[in-house]
Amino acid sequence: MTAKEIRDSFKQFFESKQHAIVPSAPMVIKDDPTLMFTNAGMNQWKDIILGTRDPEPRRRADTQKCLRVSGKHNDLEEVGHDTYHHTMFEMLGNWSFGDYFKEGAIDMAWEYLVDVLKLNPEDLYVTVFEGSPEENIPRDDEAAKYWSKHVPADHIINGNKHDNFWEMGDTGPCGPCSEIHVDSRTPEQRKASGKSGRELVNQDDPQVIEIWNIVFMQFNRKADGSLEPLSMNVIDTGMGFERLVRMMQGKHSNYDTDVFQPIIKAEQQITGLKYTTFEEETENPISKEQDDINVAMRVCADHLRAVAFSIADGQLPSNAKAGYVIRRILRRAVRYAYTFLGQKEAFLYKLLPTLVEEMGDAFPELKAQQTLIAKVMKEEEDSFLRTLEKGIGMLNDAMEQLKAEGKKELDGVQAFRLFDTYGFPLDLTELICRENGFTVNEEQFNTEMQKQKDRARNAAAVENSDWVELQPGEQQFVGYDYTEYECRILRYRKVTQKKNEFYELVLDNTPFYGEMGGQVGDQGVLVSENETIEIIDTKRENGQSVHIVKQLPKDTAAQFMACVDTDKRDASAANHTATHLLDYALKQVLGDHVEQKGSFVSPDTLRFDFSHFEKVTDEQLREVERMVNDMIRQDIHIDEHRDMPFDEAKKLGAIALFGEKYGDKVRVVRFGPSCEFCGGVHASSTGRIGFFKIISESSVAAGIRRIEAKTGKECEELLYQTEDMLRAVKAFFNNAKDLQGVIKKYIDEHDAMKKEIEAFQAQAVERTAKQLVEKAREVNGVKVITAVLPMAPAAAKDLAFKIRAAVDSSLLCVLGTHADNKPQISIMMSDDMVADHKLNAGQMVREAAKLIQGGGGGQPHFAQAGGKSVDGLSAAVDKVIELAKL
Ligand SMILES: [Zn+2]
Repeated sequence: MTAKEIRDSFKQFFESKQHAIVPSAPMVIKDDPTLMFTNAGMNQWKDIILGTRDPEPRRRADTQKCLRVSGKHNDLEEVGHDTYHHTMFEMLGNWSFGDYFKEGAIDMAWEYLVDVLKLNPEDLYVTVFEGSPEENIPRDDEAAKYWSKHVPADHIINGNKHDNFWEMGDTGPCGPCSEIHVDSRTPEQRKASGKSGRELVNQDDPQVIEIWNIVFMQFNRKADGSLEPLSMNVIDTGMGFERLVRMMQGKHSNYDTDVFQPIIKAEQQITGLKYTTFEEETENPISKEQDDINVAMRVCADHLRAVAFSIADGQLPSNAKAGYVIRRILRRAVRYAYTFLGQKEAFLYKLLPTLVEEMGDAFPELKAQQTLIAKVMKEEEDSFLRTLEKGIGMLNDAMEQLKAEGKKELDGVQAFRLFDTYGFPLDLTELICRENGFTVNEEQFNTEMQKQKDRARNAAAVENSDWVELQPGEQQFVGYDYTEYECRILRYRKVTQKKNEFYELVLDNTPFYGEMGGQVGDQGVLVSENETIEIIDTKRENGQSVHIVKQLPKDTAAQFMACVDTDKRDASAANHTATHLLDYALKQVLGDHVEQKGSFVSPDTLRFDFSHFEKVTDEQLREVERMVNDMIRQDIHIDEHRDMPFDEAKKLGAIALFGEKYGDKVRVVRFGPSCEFCGGVHASSTGRIGFFKIISESSVAAGIRRIEAKTGKECEELLYQTEDMLRAVKAFFNNAKDLQGVIKKYIDEHDAMKKEIEAFQAQAVERTAKQLVEKAREVNGVKVITAVLPMAPAAAKDLAFKIRAAVDSSLLCVLGTHADNKPQISIMMSDDMVADHKLNAGQMVREAAKLIQGGGGGQPHFAQAGGKSVDGLSAAVDKVIELAKL
């Protein structure tokens, strides 16, 4: 079966088992402070599992794009060196939220593997949790019982807590799990090893591998470590797609399957180098050079996927958070291509068409944004290649230095600086050093690395205490309709960050909007009969508004009134509505390729990033402004649909964003022709925006532009500032009526005067040249001209050449000039002085410049030097004459 067929068969099978087949959630996570990338299939269901989101439909299945760049087996620096670790990978999974449990999950997994994929039941082994006496959890006999319907007892293996008990985190849902292992050895291999499949399970045998993990979530772990039953049992399964394909296609390396081979073929075509498959390597041992090429090709094939999918999800390479991870991945690929594949120019983006061809059907976001992805990748590659060259230059300098000092070892601090500034990992620095006969002090490097890690950890350390439950219940958000609402506290917890303490509150009903979709969270107060508590911010976590307060109310059980700061809220809402109108107007003026790529909305400003490949002209910006302001004056009322089925919303023409996660029911916000999926709070009508003005238009990355704009009161302030400035400028010009005309006149006059001054200066130089030539001394047949005088550097040069023009042989002229307290020496000679007297102006000027604390150089007949000390000027001039030894 091909990879595509395997992926489709999984979806079809679970569809036939009444599962809703859902699209992959974005790989880049936008609204979870604890996680940057989806790293498991269950991430997108976290809020269902935690009970804060409607679990319907209760059966779901998908293939999820995941990214892992840290953790025991996924250190980025390891990827490519073996045959099965990846940054980006697909995870096939099926879920049951309070529907079928252990028996259903086990039966379905078995049916899929044996009846659909036609695996031999004799090759399959399963594990069950052996139990944990200290935690008082018995062995998972239930799972064992259901497995025994399908496999003989000696194919069921007990597993320990490490392998067979899954936990979401330190606290939260957890439970035992069962892994399915496949013995994919050939009969000959089995005979040769003499071991049964059972003996090799979980023993790191490359041929006896775990392909599917089925988690039975049935407990909730509390902060004190104790377990309680979960209110809803959950099935969460994960089957690594790339590994499954390898097993199904009988390969030993994931890279030899048709998931990666088309990309590797393209790499071979572009580089003219050959990749050797695992089988080829086994038959004929390969050289170190060929191994380097293989590793580099695997690195590029893997990283291409991670980078392309992240950009498709709206995450551009940058210097912070998720963007930095993507940048590091891309740079690693560039380094390998540069070092081992001989690619001195952007390379990765050339592989993109192949990736889109292979995966664009299953992941349409890739196809739809191909142009943008290619542009971003190419620019990022180009810029890193420039950095790389600089780094190599720096390393060469360092090695020169070592050679001069007779040392053999590069110190680790320098190696770390190369890593930190130029992205040079230790192995690259070591490689280059080794080629030049040097070593690197690895211990120092590691110390520096550890120091940096410690710094990062201390800066980010956040400590969450347990949630204190005051009363059960789910939160209801009423902020679309109200800014004040009666409420009680459901639960709270203490959070410590950098020694600052604050509390997070979850209310039963809240009008507070939690930061999401680029719109900042609401601020306001919580008022009871006896006290008022300030809410300094509202975040969104697992679909709920979490209110941040500096102190807890004295009576947490009291009835409160939650009151949003409406001035700030209204301003934010107006700005959010304005971004919708802006989005619409940009599409009208620039074209349909305009896609929102990010936004930020606060009470005082709005920012909107979008795809567009060139600078937006002033005329276009003005047209956009006029269009938006026109819609504001029409005072279009909000047309809002909550809980609209996703497909219906699409039919309405609502604009969905790539990389955004949408539920089955969505909210659609319409203002006249502008129609978008949106969860934000908006102005009740466009008229409330007041006025819209673009402040700046700039580039954020290749193919991405950014517009910053202001609305309403902020525009009013802006207008006053502009008016005040203009008034001040007018006052400079005696409040002239025709201000532009007057300023133009001043500029013209200024230019004319400048020209006149230059003419005077030229005349002065001419006069000085004449006087100096007349005063020339004769020393052994050489006309010697020396002078120390105030003069600008450009005029000094001019003067020297005028003298040379007047005296065409036997000339030695030395000028010491100064301007703005900076000295300069100019030496000018006729050509015969260079030829016959063997004099060199460049050498002499360097020597003499020491007397003015400076340096310089030039040609044999003309040289100049600048310096710091005007006092040494006369001595420097004399020094030149002395050096000439006439
Ligand atoms: Zn919106």
